[in-house]
Amino acid sequence: MPVILAVDQGSSSSRCFVLSAAEPGGHRDRRPPALTVLAAASTEIATALPRPGWVEHDPDEIISSVRRSITAALSAAGASWADVCALGIAAQTETFIVWERGTGRPVYPAISWRDGRAADVCRRLSASGDAAAIRQRTGLPLQSTFSAPKLRWLLDDIDAGQRRADAGELLFGDVNCWLTWQLSGGTAHVAEPSMASRTMLFSLAELAWDPVLLDLFGIPAAMLPEVCPTAGRIAMTDAGIAGGVAPICATVGDQQAALFGQRCFDPGQAKLTLGTGAFLWCQAAGQLPARPPDGVVASCAWQIDGTACYGLEGFVPNAGSVMPWLRSLGVLREGAWPSVADTALTRAAHAGTSGVWCVPAVYGLGTPAWSGPAGADIIGLTATSTAADVGEAALLGIAHQVTDAIDAVGAALPEPLTVIRVDGGMARNDSLLQAIADLCCAVLERPSFAEATALGAGALAGLGAATWDLPAVVGLLSSAVGETAIVEPRLAASERASVRRSWRHIRDRAVSGWRREPGPASS
Ligand code: ADP
Repeated sequence: MPVILAVDQGSSSSRCFVLSAAEPGGHRDRRPPALTVLAAASTEIATALPRPGWVEHDPDEIISSVRRSITAALSAAGASWADVCALGIAAQTETFIVWERGTGRPVYPAISWRDGRAADVCRRLSASGDAAAIRQRTGLPLQSTFSAPKLRWLLDDIDAGQRRADAGELLFGDVNCWLTWQLSGGTAHVAEPSMASRTMLFSLAELAWDPVLLDLFGIPAAMLPEVCPTAGRIAMTDAGIAGGVAPICATVGDQQAALFGQRCFDPGQAKLTLGTGAFLWCQAAGQLPARPPDGVVASCAWQIDGTACYGLEGFVPNAGSVMPWLRSLGVLREGAWPSVADTALTRAAHAGTSGVWCVPAVYGLGTPAWSGPAGADIIGLTATSTAADVGEAALLGIAHQVTDAIDAVGAALPEPLTVIRVDGGMARNDSLLQAIADLCCAVLERPSFAEATALGAGALAGLGAATWDLPAVVGLLSSAVGETAIVEPRLAASERASVRRSWRHIRDRAVSGWRREPGPASS
C-alpha cells in the first residue's frame, strides 16, 4: 500500500499524517485516486520562555517529536517505511537553528518566530536607514519576527560565533532545513524559497541568498543552506536516523502549505487559517508583489519546476490564543467557547461606540500595525453585563482584527477579496465565521476536512515524487477536502461601515492608552 507521509511541525506539536497514495484498482477501475488520511499522530513540544520576550524550543525535541509522530502514525495506519513513497514536511516559518557542521550538534536552542530579542538589532538598522532596502529586497518589514536579526544576535552572543561561522564550522537552517539535515543523516543542507524568503537574507526577485543582505547582517554565505525547489527529490532519509528509507519530496512553510492545500492557485485566491493566530494568504501567482502596503508581507509561496509563486500575507496574533486568556479571566469555562449572537453586529451598528467592546490585542496588533504595543481593553460594562457579553465582545474583537488584516491585504489587490477559504481549529466557530464574513463582506468557504497544511505538504510531496502532476493534484485535493460550508455576508453595507468606524475609534483609543502606559506584555 503506497503512502505519503505529511509532517506538520508547529510551535506546540509535531504531527504526522499518513496519506493514501494508491491508484485504486487496475486499469479498469475508473475511480480517481484518493488523497485520504489513513492515520495521524501528534507529539507535543515544549516552549521555553527564558526571559520576557524570548521564546525557544529544543532542536533535539523538534526532531525526536517528528520521528515519534511518524512511527506512531505509520503504526496506526498499519503501514511501514517500505510503503512510504514520499515524505512532505511543512513547518513553522522563521524559527531557526544553528548547529555544528562537524558534529550536527545545535549550538543554541531553536529561536522561535515569536521571539522578540532582536528588537535592538532592528532599531539599529532602522536608524541607519536600511529598512526600506530590506523591505524592497525581501518583501518583509524590518521586525524581529524574521530570522536574520536574531541570527545576528546569536552570532554575537555565543562564544566565537562570528569566527566559527566565517570558518564554515556553523550551519544555519530553518526548521525544515534542520529536519532534512537530521533525517538525511547530515547529507543534505538545503532550504527552499517559501522558508528562505522568511529569513530576511533572501532576495524575493532572484530567489537566492542576497549578498547585500548578508553583508548588512554580517552573515557568512558559508553557513547558509543550498537553495532547492519546494517539491522535487530533495533528499533521502537515513534508515538509522529516520527509521526507514524514503525520499523527502517536499518541504514548505506551514502557511504556504495551507495555501496549496486549500487549492489557492490563481491570483486573488485566498485562504484564512484561524488557529492560535490568524493568517491570511492571498495567491499572487508568478507576479512578484510590488510595494505591498505597510504591515503586509510579500513572500514566496512555493517554487516548483523552476516557476515561483508569490503570496501576500496578513497576520493577527490574537485568534485562538485569546481563548486561554478569556479562561484565565474566568470569562470562559473550560471546554466552552464564546459565540456572537445573530443580531450583535446590527445592534452594535446602531449603538455607535456604546455597548460592550473588547480589543483583545494581548499578543500585539499584527497587520497592518505589525508591532506596536500589546494589551487588551474591555469597555462599556454595566451592572447587568455577563461573562457571555465579554466573550462575545472578545470574539467580535478578533473578527475586527482579522478584517483589519483582510482590508490591508485587499488594498494591494486589483480586485477586492470576495471569497476566502478558511481552515484551522477556530474555524469551527460558526458565529465567528459569520461575523468575519459580515465585516469583510466576503464569502467564507470552510471545507469539511480542514487539515489544509497536511494536505498541502502531502500533495506537494506527491508532486515532487512525480507520483502526480498538477492537474491530478488539484483533483485529489478537491475530493480530499470534502463538502464545503458556505458563509455569506448578511450585514447591510451601511451597518458594516458604521460598526467598522466604531471599532477603529475604540481600537485606536485603546492602543494610544497602551502606548502611554505599556502593559506587562509589551515588548
Ligand atoms: P494551531 O494549529 O495554531 O495549534 P489549531 O488550528 O489546532 O491551532 O486551532 C486551535 C485553536 O482554536 C485553539 O487556540 C483553540 O482555542 C481555538 N478553538 C478551537 N475551537 C474553537 C471554537 N469553537 N471557538 C473558538 N476557538 C476555538
